[in-house]
Amino acid sequence: MVMPPRTIATTIGLFSNNMIRRMRVLVAVLAPSLALMAFGGADMVLCGEGAPAGRAIVLPRETSASVRYAARELASYLEQITGKRMPVVDELCSEPPCAIRLVPDERLGSDGFHLLAEPPNLKIIGSAKRGILYGVYELLETYGGVGWYAADCTVIPKAKSFVVPATLDHTERPAFAVREPAWYGVQHDADFAARLRLNGESMRPEARHGGNEFRFGGGLSNSHTLPLLVPADEFFETHPEYFAEVGGQRIRDGQLCLSNPDVLRIVTERVLDRIRRDPEATYFGVSQRDTLGYCECSECAAVDAAADSHAGSVIKFVNAVAEAVEKEFPGKIIETLAYQYSRKPPKGLHPRANVMPCLCSIECDFKEPLVRSGYPENAAFVNDLKGWGALTDRLYVWDYTTDFRQYQLPFPNIGSMQPNMRLFREAGVTTVFSEGAYNTTHSEFEELKTWLLSKLMWNPEQETDALIDRFLAGYYGPAAAQVRRYYDALTALPRDTAKNPLKSFQDIDDPVLTDEFLEQSLGFWNEAVSAAKGNADALAHVKAGVLPVVYTMLLRRGRHGVKHVWVSRHPERFGSDRLTPKLLAFFEKEYAALGSPRLSELDRHHQESMAVIRELSTAQINPIPADRVLIEETALDLSRPGVNGSLVDDPQAGNGRAIRLGNDHHLWCVVLKLWRVAYDPDVTYRLRARVRVEKGGEDGKVFGCGVYDEAAEASCGSLEPTRDQVGDGYRWYDILEWKPKDSQYIWFAPGWFAGSGPSSAHQGVFLDCLELSRSEVLNVPTGGIVIESTH
Ligand SMILES: [Zn+2]
Repeated sequence: MVMPPRTIATTIGLFSNNMIRRMRVLVAVLAPSLALMAFGGADMVLCGEGAPAGRAIVLPRETSASVRYAARELASYLEQITGKRMPVVDELCSEPPCAIRLVPDERLGSDGFHLLAEPPNLKIIGSAKRGILYGVYELLETYGGVGWYAADCTVIPKAKSFVVPATLDHTERPAFAVREPAWYGVQHDADFAARLRLNGESMRPEARHGGNEFRFGGGLSNSHTLPLLVPADEFFETHPEYFAEVGGQRIRDGQLCLSNPDVLRIVTERVLDRIRRDPEATYFGVSQRDTLGYCECSECAAVDAAADSHAGSVIKFVNAVAEAVEKEFPGKIIETLAYQYSRKPPKGLHPRANVMPCLCSIECDFKEPLVRSGYPENAAFVNDLKGWGALTDRLYVWDYTTDFRQYQLPFPNIGSMQPNMRLFREAGVTTVFSEGAYNTTHSEFEELKTWLLSKLMWNPEQETDALIDRFLAGYYGPAAAQVRRYYDALTALPRDTAKNPLKSFQDIDDPVLTDEFLEQSLGFWNEAVSAAKGNADALAHVKAGVLPVVYTMLLRRGRHGVKHVWVSRHPERFGSDRLTPKLLAFFEKEYAALGSPRLSELDRHHQESMAVIRELSTAQINPIPADRVLIEETALDLSRPGVNGSLVDDPQAGNGRAIRLGNDHHLWCVVLKLWRVAYDPDVTYRLRARVRVEKGGEDGKVFGCGVYDEAAEASCGSLEPTRDQVGDGYRWYDILEWKPKDSQYIWFAPGWFAGSGPSSAHQGVFLDCLELSRSEVLNVPTGGIVIESTH
């Protein structure tokens, strides 16, 4: 995976001056007056030079927090654009000579609006919940050129006057009732989210944004709530029959047995209790846990067989809960998941009117649109989507819009967003939840993807390319064209989605994302850096934008390229990788400047990646020729440290540290892959291990050590001594002589034994180090099992 250093080795150096800082407001210098924008036909000046005297923003009497906020937003932005403050007046108190009038009207639903010019007045008509506020944002965005591109990036053009067409008559309603991209930026700035007209629960909208109407109440969120309602800790010991039967056994970490009447009674009582304690909320989740393990008992199986889907038992159960809920709380909605094993719509069973199924696309390819991808899972999902759409008027889609395994991996899913959104709307979806990198800032193209999703959730007929250009111009300023070249090259990478889908949990070794492409990408970003010079905010965005490319290159080098152990007479053969230190220096500086964002959804994956990069930064790049090397425990991979074995202090070990393995398993848990070793090809090497054994009984072997060839699926040799063949204290053990290959690995393990405990041949083995040397330099005979300590 490592590419030879070429011209780019110097270009990365241009990324040296760190000017990253949190942005305030990026004020673009545009044309002197927005009056230059041609609308065709006569114009009406709303504010600034040429506006009629005495114009005010007029509030309706007794209005909502949202409408009052809409008036403040409008006045504030008009002033920032034109430099002129327009008063906000109450309808009751004053009647200005001409007005921008905020007119409550529920006929366009909660979110729709109507901008209507009646020269010299303008009406912004919509609901007092959100419609008027959204109408204000539309006016500012479309007619004032304001762009809200990220929580910390607002573009406000300066103009002498703010002008709209005198014939303005502009009505919009959103494609989806609930619009929720679950991405960090919009989840942590409710004002920004409202400006993007997002209203989902995780935006935490406040009263001024229309309130959190779509909040899930009672601690029953939109996913995986059944384990909260019937906890295994509370019930499994006494009532295993409440839990799923899997393979003939009731299991505590699977699903519940949904045909058990006591489970239904408990869940119903507890859901009602939670609703009583949170009666303001409308939505409550009753949904399967995030694993497989559905119940196979005869009753559940019969329901599922009749419905031709495991959604059968789910919907039957949730309908029963929802029926009881409706008696006490008409209007409350019970949400449940159609996820993994329950994704297929049930036959002969409708979700009740107060049940909202949430269909999840987790299995799909996201490179191509759901309807076009060659990946079979996509066609299956589209069938299920249409099926559910025919069963309910309340369909919720949970879509996946990032790579959760690697938040920084270049992930070209943008091209599928618009066609997927259209598909959802055609299937009758009412709620779109697009899960993204919710638990970090600065994931790959976070700002672009969030903004684009917000636009498409409002209106999926908008043309993606034009939207992207608009965003890039606003967010990257003078570097927009260079970023666009990178984006286009990334999007154009050919992918056979039938065989190699772009899934939302993939690791860095995506073969489509070639090393050559990454190298070329550095060039695009380098040009973007040059173009952004002199514009500190754009430059900061560009530097964050290059991080995914640098990160992917580094992680690949760390995982596959860089040698960790050197035992070669010709180290120069392995190349002197001068690019890696430059990439590392860039990454360390810029990553820290961005506040060290998370690299993966899960902490353990984040830690793994950080460890690879740390190790890379301490790896020897150009060591001296060597015939013999001692491989200390830090260069060996111990799987599941703390479980399979642990790194311990041991004064008897050469460096005072050793890996201790117990006698409760005999897994090959200590490994050194030979591609990590710089050795000379076609030369015979000898492997030795320095080991101490705490002897036990007669049962089995004390330890095992050897070399295995994964390509040949065969052992190259090993040593597995019995209790009587080992001495006390640390000894050198001769393992084998052979010619190493990159497809092989060295392994070390506790010895085979029949049972753990006192009869096992050992009570613990300690590995101090391995030794790898060219055979001819070893001045000791081969083949003996125990060699006296030479340490
Ligand atoms: Zn069951």
